[in-house]
Amino acid sequence: MFTHKRFIIDSLNFVRNSEVHHGRILPAELERLREYLLDHSGEIVYSISGVFDEKGRPTLKIMIAGMVTLCCQRCLSKLEHTLDVKTSLLIARNQDEYSYYDEDNSVDAILASPDIDALTLIEDEIILSLPISPRHQENECSINNITISTSEITGAVKKHPFISLKSLKK
Ligand SMILES: [Zn+2]
Repeated sequence: MFTHKRFIIDSLNFVRNSEVHHGRILPAELERLREYLLDHSGEIVYSISGVFDEKGRPTLKIMIAGMVTLCCQRCLSKLEHTLDVKTSLLIARNQDEYSYYDEDNSVDAILASPDIDALTLIEDEIILSLPISPRHQENECSINNITISTSEITGAVKKHPFISLKSLKK
C-alpha cells in the first residue's frame, strides 16, 4: 500500500503566510474516491494556495488536474475522465460567518481550522466534480456500435433546439 505523507493546513495562517502546497497523487491513494473508479490508473496533480480574495476575505484556491477512470453508465466500459477543477473556498472564521457564506450560492466556504488535511480536501473536491452519471460522448460510446435506439435519436433531436436557444441567449 501507499504511505502518503499527510499535509496539514492551518487554514488562516496558511492564508496569512501566502502559502502554497502542491502534490501529486495516484487515484489508488484516495480511499473514498476509489469507490467511484473502474480501475486505479491515472494520476492527479493539485495545488492549494492561501490568498485573500478581491474583498480581502481569506480563501483557499484549489486547482486539480489529471485523469481518472470511470465506468460509462451506458456501455459499462472504461471512461477516461479528465479532472480540471479550479475552485475557491472562503474560510469562515466562525460559525456565524459560515452560516452567512452558506446562504450565498455564489461562494463555497469551509470553517477555519488549524488542522485541515490537504488530501481530504482534495479528495472532496474531486468527488464533487465527478459527473453523477458518467457517459462517453455519443460517438465514443461502444453501445452505439451495437445499435442506436430510436428513442436516443429523438432525444438528440430534442436536445438541439435547447442548445441553439442557449447559445442565442449569450
Ligand atoms: Zn460508453
